[in-house]
Amino acid sequence: MIRKLLDKVFGRNSSASEPAVKLTVIPGKRHGVRRNQINPCALKITQQLQSAGFAAYIVGGAVRDLLLGLIPKDYDVATNATPEEVHKLFRRSRIIGRRFRLVHVMCGAETVEVSTFRGPSSDDDEDSIAVPLTDQHGRLLRDNVFGTQEEDALRRDFTINALYFDPVKEEILDYLNGFKDINAKEMRIIGAPEQRYREDPVRLLRAVRLAAKLGLQIENETAKPIGDLAPLLQNVPPSRLFDEMLKLLLSGHALSCLVELRARGLHHGLLPMLDIILEQPLGERFITIALKNTDDRIRQDKPVSPGFLFAILLWHEVLSGWNSRLSAGEKPMPALFTAMDQVLAEQHKKLAIPRRFDAVMQEIWSMQPRFEARTGRKPFRLLTHPRFRAAYDFLQLRCESGELAMEVGLWWKNFIAGDPGEREKMLTAPSPGKKKRRRRRKKTASAAAETTNQETG
Ligand code: ATP
Ligand code: MG
Repeated sequence: MIRKLLDKVFGRNSSASEPAVKLTVIPGKRHGVRRNQINPCALKITQQLQSAGFAAYIVGGAVRDLLLGLIPKDYDVATNATPEEVHKLFRRSRIIGRRFRLVHVMCGAETVEVSTFRGPSSDDDEDSIAVPLTDQHGRLLRDNVFGTQEEDALRRDFTINALYFDPVKEEILDYLNGFKDINAKEMRIIGAPEQRYREDPVRLLRAVRLAAKLGLQIENETAKPIGDLAPLLQNVPPSRLFDEMLKLLLSGHALSCLVELRARGLHHGLLPMLDIILEQPLGERFITIALKNTDDRIRQDKPVSPGFLFAILLWHEVLSGWNSRLSAGEKPMPALFTAMDQVLAEQHKKLAIPRRFDAVMQEIWSMQPRFEARTGRKPFRLLTHPRFRAAYDFLQLRCESGELAMEVGLWWKNFIAGDPGEREKMLTAPSPGKKKRRRRRKKTASAAAETTNQETG
């Protein structure tokens, strides 16, 4: 059985040399993780499952992060109990998923995912008639068979993600030398790299994201096929790609992830047009500044809205559509709205960004020209807009990146900080360069906004 499994996972026949799958039990005094470091909810679930006679461990990212001295962001529990058995044990739980079922156990506001050990699917499974095992590129279409703990370790992605912590005994069970790799700060894929990436191309992104986030090296054989296999991402369901993209953007290391994705040629096809944007110097500068800013916010535990992030990533595409429409003589605001619609339509075609983020992006973008109207009551009206803060932050990024004169951002900064008297004074002062600009009527995007405001009073 184990030989058959190894052949399958490692993509070789039984005569080939076998990979090292040997269970090592690492005692607490060697690995240093203590049960009091575990989130109380995950701890309680594991203990309760064990008291009921099941095997239960903390697994995956949480064990890895604790070993690296980081605070885990979420906890996963793996067990030999079936989803029904888990559900019966915990009053506040529900079974989720249709094909492979997991249990979400709730304690307080938290949810811990409890999954039953999984094994490799095969052509002998009962649903093999309805769904083939893989598609033509090798992507696994079935992954829904219970298995042993060893099998569960083998189907995980990287050795550092296949460690099982038993909080009762404070031991770590290591089947694939993940502990050694953690200490060497190395990410190694489990099994034959190309086959494992083909089975699930999201692993390409996970390799890059986790390495950037955790400061790890991607081991040579693991890194080698990444660039060549990048086109496989086109074949991943868009919702999964989006989830992974969001994880990446909200990791607190978005900038280094994106730099790394680009270096490995993985940014093509991630978000339609992202590659084009990164190729334009001003677009790249804007995204670099914005992501650095976002990373800082996340590291300071400040909220970041995904809509804001996507507005950033796509802005220069909107801008270039807007500018070409202006050059063709279209009116500024209708031109902006058409450019926005076109960019969003392109995303929808590929289901890249869910429609629920459209409204935020549209508001942030369409408010941008209004920042250049600094006469009459307009600035006061803009201040009261519910999305003012996000749009203002966006404006500042535009100024910092060199797209818009710094003076505009500075004016707004002072306007916000000013008391009512000072604000009135700022409005009455003629805005610098206004006359000159009116005469020239240069139809770049920013000048166009100025024009609109003058035209409409
Ligand atoms: P983080 O939560 O910090 O982003 P993680 O490794 O915990 O990283 P999760 O998505 O929470 O990521 O996955 C939990 C575990 O499930 C992983 O550690 C890994 O063992 C396994 N896993 C996740 N995605 C895959 C995949 N695509 N292929 C194989 N195993 C995976
Ligand atoms: Mg996790």
